[in-house]
Amino acid sequence: MYTNVCKHCRKVFKSRVKQYTCKDCETTDNLFFDAIYDYLKKYPNSNALQVAEALGISPYEVIQYMSEGRLSVSRGRFERLQ
Ligand SMILES: [Zn+2]
Repeated sequence: MYTNVCKHCRKVFKSRVKQYTCKDCETTDNLFFDAIYDYLKKYPNSNALQVAEALGISPYEVIQYMSEGRLSVSRGRFERLQ
């Protein structure tokens, strides 16, 4: 079992596989992910800060998606902030 902390609401929950989002925030999480994905399709050279500003979310959240490995697959040019 893993002890996870939801990145949206900070709730602590347990699961069999490592997770970053609790059940309650899954919809929000997917909305954010789709928005980031669409933005990067239009502006593939954006960095995390630009994406965050454009979508009104925090750069930390954008970086979180990257560290989950959900964005890097199709976005080779997506830069990580120093
Ligand atoms: Zn949550």
